Amino acid sequence: MGFSSQNDYDNFIRILDEKVKNQKMKINSSLEEANSILGINYYTYVTCCNCGENWFLEMPDHSKRGYFLNKQGVGIYYAKKDEHDRKVKRNGLIILTIILIISIYKCI
Ligand SMILES: [Zn+2]
Repeated sequence: MGFSSQNDYDNFIRILDEKVKNQKMKINSSLEEANSILGINYYTYVTCCNCGENWFLEMPDHSKRGYFLNKQGVGIYYAKKDEHDRKVKRNGLIILTIILIISIYKCI
């Protein structure tokens, strides 16, 4: 899951840009609002003008692959990440695999 490459991310941003220009999606950057939705610090989240779903964007950065997930997806992501971090502490390196398909990119 997440963006498979910088190229993948760039393509995604291009599509997102288009949707925002066509007023199909709205970019919000109110930290306070995002906080009240998720309880995590998010600088960027996007609202679908069609169904009202909120999507949370994390840009790829060094070791992070970034993601674009709805609230449920972000919850799963962090639950898996915590689980992974605990396993790493206990057993050494275990490759993190997260399968989060279902509703990813539903609105995009
Ligand atoms: Zn939608």
